[in-house]
Amino acid sequence: MKITRVEATALKTRSVIVQIFTDDGIAGIGECSPMNLDVLAHFVNNALGPLLLDEDPLEIDKLWNKMMFSTYKLGPHGVQPEAIAGVDIALWDILGKFSGLPICTLLGGSYRDRVLMYASIGGGAPLKPEEMVRKVEDALIKGFKAIKIRMDWGPHRRDIDPAKDFAMFKAVRELVGDDIPLSFDANNGYSVTTAISQGRRFEELGIYHFEEPVAQYDYAGIRRVTEALDVPVSAGEHEYTRWQFRDLIEQANPDVLQPDVVKCGGISEMRKIAVLSETYSKHFLPHQTQPTIGTLASLHVVTTIQTATRPQEYTGQRPELDEIFVEPVEFRDGYITLPKRPGLGLEIIPEKLKALAL
Ligand code: CA
Repeated sequence: MKITRVEATALKTRSVIVQIFTDDGIAGIGECSPMNLDVLAHFVNNALGPLLLDEDPLEIDKLWNKMMFSTYKLGPHGVQPEAIAGVDIALWDILGKFSGLPICTLLGGSYRDRVLMYASIGGGAPLKPEEMVRKVEDALIKGFKAIKIRMDWGPHRRDIDPAKDFAMFKAVRELVGDDIPLSFDANNGYSVTTAISQGRRFEELGIYHFEEPVAQYDYAGIRRVTEALDVPVSAGEHEYTRWQFRDLIEQANPDVLQPDVVKCGGISEMRKIAVLSETYSKHFLPHQTQPTIGTLASLHVVTTIQTATRPQEYTGQRPELDEIFVEPVEFRDGYITLPKRPGLGLEIIPEKLKALAL
């Protein structure tokens, strides 16, 4: 089998879908990070595509290395691994369709058929506490049994209004009660001292994990916060590849690792990062904001890790995106059921994809 065409398409839904076609008639699908749609689609089509033509799509690790080490001067943070991610996921999808097996089986077998998802609710920075409470109410109505609220401050807006953030967390805790796992994502918006004092107050109310309390590049700061608090502190959505996760673990030592399959280099690389997380006894809790291909690619890895039992990130269904698939992702009562179909378990309807293209 040979690769005949690699095609990335940027969609109106702010997604980048990768399709890889073969002379065998099998086609695989993948997804890249939604940041810089046009740049990513261009990178896949012009930098990676030509490297893959006439290659055997089943030799995934060889092709990953070929892509990485032919284009590394354009990386290794951001666009390069994000583009490779989309291609790598599509290659795994081809292997699954070729062998007739779901990706989780190819990775060694799934420990669970369905996964509890947490509602990942962002945009907290400009909101009043009661506005966030209404968003959380909506998520509970949709069936979510675990919640994370995200402030989206960013490292450039430090300690803007921690008192309001605390009031928001408290109001949401009062709404959901004590039994629902509730996490808080500062999106890198606190200084070390604010993160520690805020974290202690969250702990009194019950917090499930404290995400990215300080700037993502401040490894010493992440370490100080992690060591000061009992709540699991998480980091990793801004890291790419196993080498950066090694540095994160050695220098920042967070309790929870959060690689993102559409950013960190795809299924191949996330699997390697999962091995690191097991080696260092870290919680493996991927970051994921893409509700279709990205989510299933992530869950195919997560379900093969026995200790990865925490609820997984989900931003909720997007009907306009679900429409491009023959059988969309199944979310019910707070859970996603991993399809038993070959590959990712998703099949694209070409004309629907075309209609959604930018
Ligand atoms: Ca986050």
